Amino acid sequence: MLTAIVGINWGDEGKGRMVDLLSENYDIVARYQGGNNAGHTVQNHLGKFILNLLPSGILRPDVVNVMGPGMVIDLQHLCGEIDRLRQAGIRITPDNLKISDRAIICLPYHVQQDGLEEDRLGDAKYGSTRRGIAPVYGDKYLKKCIRMGDLLYPEAMKKRLRGIVEWKDLFIHDGYKADHISYDEIVGWLETYGGQLKDHVCDLGVYLTEQIQKGKKVMFEAQLGALRDIDFGIYPFTSSSSTISAYAPIGAGIPGKKLDLCIGIMKAYSSCVGEGPFTCEMFGKEAEELREAGGEYGAATGRPRRVGPFDVVASRYGVRMQGADELALTKMDVLSYLDKIPVCTAYEVNGTITHEFPFGDHLNEAKPVIEYVPGWHCDISGCRKKEDLPKEALDYVAYLEKAVGCKIRYVSVGPDRDAYIEMN
Ligand code: GDP
Repeated sequence: MLTAIVGINWGDEGKGRMVDLLSENYDIVARYQGGNNAGHTVQNHLGKFILNLLPSGILRPDVVNVMGPGMVIDLQHLCGEIDRLRQAGIRITPDNLKISDRAIICLPYHVQQDGLEEDRLGDAKYGSTRRGIAPVYGDKYLKKCIRMGDLLYPEAMKKRLRGIVEWKDLFIHDGYKADHISYDEIVGWLETYGGQLKDHVCDLGVYLTEQIQKGKKVMFEAQLGALRDIDFGIYPFTSSSSTISAYAPIGAGIPGKKLDLCIGIMKAYSSCVGEGPFTCEMFGKEAEELREAGGEYGAATGRPRRVGPFDVVASRYGVRMQGADELALTKMDVLSYLDKIPVCTAYEVNGTITHEFPFGDHLNEAKPVIEYVPGWHCDISGCRKKEDLPKEALDYVAYLEKAVGCKIRYVSVGPDRDAYIEMN
């Protein structure tokens, strides 16, 4: 059984909490793309954890967690994340955390370049998390990167690194006029942090193929959502990797395998961190109330997130791009304060109403068409069965299901692991 858990929107849909919940029935959880630029917040009986790089199955003692070749890994950040979890009593060993030898290492100069470029752009910045993700993915496709498996061959790695550093310095020093990159410092960094991680490095393709042959179940965990996908998202305000489910087997190291199930995680309203078109965005008091109610501040950066009502156009597009078989609707409880719930049902582009997600300038010009549906206006955070939900909440779920054209199987009503309802 191969299942992907993916984001339908702009990210921050609550994928981490759904992976934490649904991984109970899985043997392996695999992260397949991205780096430490996003954060999954997971809250359960063990505490509250922010996971940037580690798969969210790490909190389950019987689950093996793997970090795929589609990822970019900042070694220092990963060591810090592992230390923090170990201090909280979570066991992390080469048996339950495996890292692909093909995963790319995000080096300190990638982080530096991210910051230098955002500063250079000034007001035209991308709103990057400044964690080196775009520069390292760029270098991956330029074939100028060091991979996790290279840590196992230090002499060959150091030799290649010399040429790469020389090349990279053309940008960092000659271009941005920053200090020269120190080759020795990069080697020291790789030895210090790589040394702590190299026992986790393996050929994930071999490992996963064997496990699947034995009948083990694998869950793929996405970072960010469909609208941040490098190919299908709001380019150039996307992430630099493929967040869509079709990439999951590739990014996990088993490109020949097909998914059995794709569960899309879709939020009951919208949020978007960083720059870029966000048609349904709300402003002023209305936005502040929703941001407060939903605690919409970035897990990786603490930045206040932009918020808006549920966006039918963007979500329907997200469901299609992800090929979602079923959905989990998260953070329903956040809307409990509203008498009537706004929904963005269509976009108006140059006087024409559209239900399809527009491209480029049309997206920038799009205005939201807002309609209202009745709110339930009571606390639903204690509901655990479909019958516990008020009629208006059930109507909202049915309305969204119809609007996006996909079954909503789970509804979450709080951040805790058990705060959800299975809708049969
Ligand atoms: P991810 O990156 O998709 O995993 O999402 P984030 O972790 O960035 O954001 C989701 C946030 O919402 C986290 O702080 C979760 O603890 C919280 N959360 C998840 N599900 C629910 C829910 O049903 N209700 C409420 N109130 N909070 C939730």
